[in-house]
Amino acid sequence: MTTILAAQSADARAKGEALIRTADKLLCESWNERMWADGGPIDPSPTIDQAVNGTYPWLEIECSRCKTRREVDLATLHHPPTTFVHDLASRLRCSKCSKANRRPPATLLQLAQRARHPDRET
Ligand SMILES: [Zn+2]
Repeated sequence: MTTILAAQSADARAKGEALIRTADKLLCESWNERMWADGGPIDPSPTIDQAVNGTYPWLEIECSRCKTRREVDLATLHHPPTTFVHDLASRLRCSKCSKANRRPPATLLQLAQRARHPDRET
């Protein structure tokens, strides 16, 4: 009986985790939809944790000054996983512009499942 209950527990947990993953994935997709269709607002957005769990671990950004695009691997950021993706706009910096002593905010474009052109600088 104990093993059956333990197996049922594991089964229920796996189903629960799959449901959460689906919820996180849908949250990422609805945010992407909003960015594409209306260009914002960026707030509310998924958290880093939800984006990674929802299989959207890449964030495409564009420098608001020089328009250089790059992709950020959310899983490797040093920000707490509970940080909202929209809060990253003011925290992610363009490396080109920072060399010129400028710190323009990043424009957030969309969440992606894989990197199109991986950032080789990091
Ligand atoms: Zn720039």
